[in-house]
Amino acid sequence: MWNRSGCNIRKDKLLTGKQLAELNISILPRIGEKRAKLFYKLGINNLFDLLYYIPRRYEDRRVRVTLDHVQNGELVTVFGRIVNIEEVKLRRNLTLLRAVISGNFGICNALWFNQPFLKRTLRKGLPIAITGKVERNLYGYEISVLDYETGDLKKPVHVGRIVPVYGTTEELSQRMLRRIIYQTVVNYAGKVKDVLPPDMIKKLNLMPISQALTQIHFPSDMKSLASARERLVYEELFLFETGLSRIQQHIRKDGVARLPKTSLPDDFLALLPFPLTEAQHQVIAEVKSDISSSKRMYRLMQGDVGCGKTVVALYALLYAVAAGYQGVLMAPTEVLAEQHFLGISRLVSQLGVKVDLLTGSMGKKEREQSLEMLKTGATDLMIGTHALLEEEVSFWNLGLVVIDEQHRFGVKQRDLLLLKAAAPDVLIMTATPIPRSLTLTVYGDLDLSIINELPPGRKKVKTYYLPSTEKGRVYRFARKELEAGRQVYVVCPLIEESDHLDVEAAVARYHELCQEFPDFQVALIHGKLKIEEKDRVMDAFRRGEINLLVATSVIEVGIDVPNASLIVIEGVERFGLAQLHQLRGRVGRGTQESYCVLIGSPRTEEARERIKILVKYHDGFHVAEKDLVLRGPGELLGMKQHGCSDFRIVNIFKDIQYLLKTKQIVKNYYNQNQDLNQDLWDEIYFRFPKLVLGLKI
Ligand code: ADP
Ligand code: MG
Repeated sequence: MWNRSGCNIRKDKLLTGKQLAELNISILPRIGEKRAKLFYKLGINNLFDLLYYIPRRYEDRRVRVTLDHVQNGELVTVFGRIVNIEEVKLRRNLTLLRAVISGNFGICNALWFNQPFLKRTLRKGLPIAITGKVERNLYGYEISVLDYETGDLKKPVHVGRIVPVYGTTEELSQRMLRRIIYQTVVNYAGKVKDVLPPDMIKKLNLMPISQALTQIHFPSDMKSLASARERLVYEELFLFETGLSRIQQHIRKDGVARLPKTSLPDDFLALLPFPLTEAQHQVIAEVKSDISSSKRMYRLMQGDVGCGKTVVALYALLYAVAAGYQGVLMAPTEVLAEQHFLGISRLVSQLGVKVDLLTGSMGKKEREQSLEMLKTGATDLMIGTHALLEEEVSFWNLGLVVIDEQHRFGVKQRDLLLLKAAAPDVLIMTATPIPRSLTLTVYGDLDLSIINELPPGRKKVKTYYLPSTEKGRVYRFARKELEAGRQVYVVCPLIEESDHLDVEAAVARYHELCQEFPDFQVALIHGKLKIEEKDRVMDAFRRGEINLLVATSVIEVGIDVPNASLIVIEGVERFGLAQLHQLRGRVGRGTQESYCVLIGSPRTEEARERIKILVKYHDGFHVAEKDLVLRGPGELLGMKQHGCSDFRIVNIFKDIQYLLKTKQIVKNYYNQNQDLNQDLWDEIYFRFPKLVLGLKI
């Protein structure tokens, strides 16, 4: 049989999701060009989209046998015949259609407001089911009709059953959408191929796919709906996990036991001016054992801002270097990479380790030289930004990849770096505590290290909010701190996406503050400065020669000056929570009382909520938890680029128990089927293109 799109569908052949997606919705009856566009707006382009367009919610519109015991205002559905119908003009712009309906349930008045055209279809004697709010009054029962269906109700769509309610736009009515999905389910659900392995279906006693797709839209009862959802959740997770485990396998394969030949890592610890915290010791032990074992390290290190992750990472890097390998540290911003570079160079220069820096803004010659040294092995430790990911960057013998502040990178970028060597060990650092369900989905079976204590003597940063109009008060407070010999950051608002405007705003604020504090040294730092210039400013600030530093958010991560006691953040509504928490982490690094003042004029509820959270909570764990609620997991982890955002049915928070079970199943399935069949892989690729992008099997 040929259909309108020219695709050949054989009657008996079952279709995979990918094949369904090749059938445009315009092949369906009732969908012309104009209506098709309305569907596209909802993200529904093809039959796959339509069948997997999961209802937002359901309404129980099953027919009641009696109206006894109903409450006023309750939503009820009754079935009967129209025994009388009349139109009443209530006011000039308000007409009422009132029908008397009688059935087994008894008798009631049905009311339609302002739909005079219904007169033509609703005639005396017609069987009808109505659903609406019931009211009992002097005249008996009255129902204001929300939806109705005429006919004998053998195959009800809108009323007389549990009814799906879909997300839709004003132009495309719920009734039309529901009707079209109904027809599609009737015609196509039975043609969908089951992608789950038969033994999985059997073992978990799952509904067949055709039934699940029918029941998810038009459930016969709540129990079948639950089974249908379960079945679809398993399907999605199975495909996702199978894809993920392929990637994992790829990443994890061929670990190398790297054993240090010198005492370099311990010499480094001996140089530190402070003893490690217990938590740092613990994580160092974990990392050491990973790197020296033949199992490949694939570890996430979590710990709040300022807990000392860098020291641990550096230890790991030196451990790999001592074993005769190169290490690389990738940071999310240039400033942070530079900061790491300077700090690390200072620490290890006396140990004879060759450290280098690679960022996007380096000159051509400098860059070529860096690349050459990296390739020949002259460089031991490379530090950089995502400039490291470019194809021409190649290592002589890369043994360890450390990625800082993971949430700023797309997962794809991370994986790219891993391809620069046969099987480097991997350590990811993040200040964002990631819920277990998320790590399991995003990273598979990544090992987890947690630094759960701050170095001794750190104090909570007292956090306040002031509206923009009260800047005078802030300046008076800043003066007090400056006069006490402390240092102050003023962070200028982020302006849209434009660096250029950010700089302008910072320059203006800088001039203003120079006038306000003529008796102190005020300086300016922003992203557009040359690295030497930034370096000079930061060094002077570190030495205390600069008292007040005006900055764009370039100081967000990593900068470390213990004498700074106040950070003023302007335009607070423009920053995300994680960012604000990072910024706040710039102070409270010494032993004195420290403050964070948030200034702004938040207009949205969400912006106000963010401020409240920061004022109330001080540890990153709480802040991130709240952030997760406010923004959802996608943005938190840069998961927009990751396959997780392609889930249609699964909710990774709620469906954690399914996830764990699927993981187990996929593991077993994998052992038995080392080669995935092409159909399955195609389907994985089709459903989760971002997950498996670029991976060859
Ligand atoms: P983060 O975890 O945010 O990356 P850093 O590694 O930048 O934290 O450390 C923050 C500051 O704490 C740095 O100045 C670092 O030298 C210092 N630090 C790290 N570990 C300790 C420790 N055990 N005792 C005291 N200070 C420490
Ligand atoms: Mg850090």
